[in-house]
Amino acid sequence: MKLRRFQDAAVAGARVLVRVDINVPMEDGEVLDDTRIRMSLPTIVELLEKGAQVILASHLGRPKGVRDEKYSLKAIVPVLSGLLNEALETKTLPKVSIKFLNDCLGYKILWAINQLDPGTVILLENTRFHREEKRNQRIFAMGMASLANCFVNDAFGSCHRAHASTEGIAHFRPAYAGYLVQREVAALSKAVEDPETPYYVVLGGAKISGKIDVIKKMLDVADSIFIGGAMAFTFAKALGCETGRSLIEEDRVTMARMIIENATQLGKTVHLPADVVVTDDIENPTRIETKPIDGMAPDDIGVDIGEVTISEYTSELAKAKTIFWNGPMGIFEKPEFAKGTTAIANALASADAVTIVGGGESAMAVRDAGVEDKITHVSTGGGASLEFVGGKSLPGIRILEEDNQNNPAYHLS
Ligand code: ADP
Ligand code: MG
Repeated sequence: MKLRRFQDAAVAGARVLVRVDINVPMEDGEVLDDTRIRMSLPTIVELLEKGAQVILASHLGRPKGVRDEKYSLKAIVPVLSGLLNEALETKTLPKVSIKFLNDCLGYKILWAINQLDPGTVILLENTRFHREEKRNQRIFAMGMASLANCFVNDAFGSCHRAHASTEGIAHFRPAYAGYLVQREVAALSKAVEDPETPYYVVLGGAKISGKIDVIKKMLDVADSIFIGGAMAFTFAKALGCETGRSLIEEDRVTMARMIIENATQLGKTVHLPADVVVTDDIENPTRIETKPIDGMAPDDIGVDIGEVTISEYTSELAKAKTIFWNGPMGIFEKPEFAKGTTAIANALASADAVTIVGGGESAMAVRDAGVEDKITHVSTGGGASLEFVGGKSLPGIRILEEDNQNNPAYHLS
């Protein structure tokens, strides 16, 4: 896959709208984890170095298509400014100031941009304050595009969604991939194009619906799939097990059953936990027990994979040549339910294999376990990396491919 790279575009003196993914976790107006901001810096720094005027756009949280101050990107300005200026300083580039504008399109915003010194970095307000963003409405995308001369997409984590600020906008201005998108695509391609086998996929986490659909595709490429996290209980239910009060998605049970049947036909294995850790209350547990997956009681909540499962999964993973992992094995935010997740992180770290981790929480688990530098690639995308590795074409990436004639950049050269 060949992408249009922003390094090859003429950006000096141009206004460049950069879609970054600075959707950072926040609490009481404070940034809890600045990883995503740091990840966006290399592209911004390079654009500034080349004399571009940088306009940043991003979403933050899930504000439901209306203005909601709780999700205002204004709160991240101090952190962004600090980190960006630090990065500029190490390259002995002049400091910049960041101007926050309280919308992401419109004549007032364009007017405000026109008033600013070209050296000022502009941060637009949360794109998801407009419902047109998720609907990928053309007029809205055009409105955002009209703020700049060209577009750089560096929001890999949002590329699996055809939203106005990731996909739509790229139809109206020459569009290029930023460094992060380039790096992610290069690293994840290793798991898609001819991976060394055995190739094992480990899946868990909470967002069942978005993931279960990709498992089918995973069965085509991977040799085995290891299931953990809340998803395991939807599968357990499909096999007729009692799942108590565990987090499951009723409307995916049939699909889970089909996936198991499908796997059998293909001669592949979907490994489900043999045992699970259960509790009566996630926040204030009065009992924590390990039970066989088919031995749960109606008031049990499944919160982690059990010891037997841990040893089965980790000894299998030791044989792999390629491993892709997305989604924690349990509610790892609570130390009492983190064992399974930590064990998988360590299994990847010690495997003699190409190892790829995707997903915000999974990446955090890898960092918590202190093994980040022993993993081949830790992706910044959750759903995006999963879909990419599952062989789906991501709309935000497709438009940046060199042979895509819908990208105005195609007609420039
Ligand atoms: P990622 O960000 O890595 O893609 P997800 O967002 O899909 O992963 O899921 C992460 C969340 O899944 C974690 O916050 C974790 O607490 C939750 N989780 C894992 N196992 C369970 C479970 N058994 N029940 C409820 N939540 C779970
Ligand atoms: Mg997540």
